Amino acid sequence: MSAILIYLKKLHAFAGWKLYFNIIGMMLIGFVETMSIFLIIPLLSLIGVFKLEASIPLLGPIVNALQGTSIEFNLPLILILYLGLMLGQAWLSRNQTVMNIQIQQGFIRHLRIETYRSLLQAQWSFFLRKRKSDFQHILTSELARVSQGTHLSLNILASIVFTAVQVGFAFWLSAPLTLLVLAGGLTLVLLSRRFLRNARSIGENTSELTQSYFAGITDQMNGIKDIKSNSLEASYNEWFRSLCMQISDNIVRFVKLQAASKFYYKAASAIMITVFIYLSFEVFTVQAEQLMLIVVIFARLWPRFTSIQSSSEQLAQSIPAFHTLIDLNQECSLAEEAAVMRRTAKPMEIERGIECKHLYYRYPGESNDTLKDITISVPANQMTAIVGKSGAGKSTLVDLIMGLIQPNEGQVLVDGKQLSEDDIVAYRSSIGYVSQDPFLFHTSIRENLQLVKPEATDQEMWSALRFSSAEEVVKALPKGLDTIIGDRGIRLSGGERQRIVLARAILRTPALLILDEATSALDTENENKIQQALEQLKGTMTIIVIAHRLSTIRNADQVLVLENGEVVEYGGFQQLAHKEKGTFQRLLQQQV
Ligand code: ADP
Repeated sequence: MSAILIYLKKLHAFAGWKLYFNIIGMMLIGFVETMSIFLIIPLLSLIGVFKLEASIPLLGPIVNALQGTSIEFNLPLILILYLGLMLGQAWLSRNQTVMNIQIQQGFIRHLRIETYRSLLQAQWSFFLRKRKSDFQHILTSELARVSQGTHLSLNILASIVFTAVQVGFAFWLSAPLTLLVLAGGLTLVLLSRRFLRNARSIGENTSELTQSYFAGITDQMNGIKDIKSNSLEASYNEWFRSLCMQISDNIVRFVKLQAASKFYYKAASAIMITVFIYLSFEVFTVQAEQLMLIVVIFARLWPRFTSIQSSSEQLAQSIPAFHTLIDLNQECSLAEEAAVMRRTAKPMEIERGIECKHLYYRYPGESNDTLKDITISVPANQMTAIVGKSGAGKSTLVDLIMGLIQPNEGQVLVDGKQLSEDDIVAYRSSIGYVSQDPFLFHTSIRENLQLVKPEATDQEMWSALRFSSAEEVVKALPKGLDTIIGDRGIRLSGGERQRIVLARAILRTPALLILDEATSALDTENENKIQQALEQLKGTMTIIVIAHRLSTIRNADQVLVLENGEVVEYGGFQQLAHKEKGTFQRLLQQQV
């Protein structure tokens, strides 16, 4: 319940007065509907189906007053009243539906934006612990369930208030019989708590199954080439079939549960109405017109009980989604990098360099340190190369230098000072990063480049592309800079993508350029070009290059050799290359 309350409060904060307007609208519609049904009784009495006693509250006096005049006058009057009520109700209903959907869609949009924003604000270490597909799952399916659940709880609330009013009215008309209907209803509500419990457990299954579904398809689509080239289609298809089966079984289970609870309500209703009519005639000796009223009341009240019950089952089913979303928001706010959403920070200049002092880093949940006692300095405007075997900790070190993860011990100092949360935005906007897995958005090359520098001119873009030796590639594309690239656009090779990403990094003229295995997908010719480009850049910006191919870093001012998370050698390229029995020398020899 507390989970739902959190979201009701959010909805209240989001919708404000509209929410009350909406709830009042829901009640008004119910009220007008009841009135129009009650009007049938004086109508029947007027046309002589039966005689309405003056003793019946509310309706008796109306009919009495009307009976003073002639039927020719009364019938149209009551029919006009009836018509007016029905039209009024239809009009209210129309407006309420529109307002309801506006609030609901507005709220889901609000939740989406809030959740997405809190995801973007989370630290990199948060993403290291998580599966990406879980975010897709939460932002689509779970979020929709939460929004629907919030609205269901509002509807239930309005239904309960409205039913209470109707019960009061019915009580006024006939206390003993209303009590009997109520007692029957309450007994059923108590007995059907089991349905709510089951609905919640079905809801938990729904969350788990849809999560596996999202994770599975994301994973398999990412690995589709491996699936096809290793002919694994059949086994994955089998996995998918079985998951789909479980999903549909789960939904059928829920509908079965709802059908069963509806059946109980209907059966109880039939039994009760039989008992009522019997008791009314034989025990309470109620008159026909009063009995008519009771049947009308019963007919109005009972479906309300049924709909409250079935809405509650649906709500119980969506509760696990509320918990998933709350957990995610909590985790995100614990891992928040508050300043990162401020886009206006001016890039930072790096004047002296970056120093790492006795850095230790261990990935969450791991038992060993990935980096141990790293003390290095990266001088400004020079080129530092980090080499070492795969898994040595090169990327982790770069992540620490970029401030994406925080060391367990030790410090990263930029120009001698530890960066505050506010500095981090300025620092990151002064970094140009090219990873081993170059990422371009599915849009034009121009937009991809302008992401880092929206005001970049064509000339600046072309010069960045020339610099990363991607100029020829882009010129050869059908629409040049405006060619759409990515999944549904023009396919580029790994090396071509890498060069465009490099151009993007350079376009920003970053104070710190980091190439993390960025040249690994390039052929020797293009690698040479990049190497020359880096040579030109030397002295204008601080460069850190992680390179698998040692030829890339021939011009580095200093080389850092990492092994098992420790710096084993540190010095100039030539110095290390000639060091007897040195690790770097061995690495060089292996590549010859
Ligand atoms: P390199 O860049 O030198 O290949 P990495 O810095 O990527 O090495 O990884 C160093 C070590 O840290 C490896 O043993 C790797 O298994 C481990 N590692 C990398 N990322 C994670 C992670 N997200 N969680 C746990 N361990 C990790």
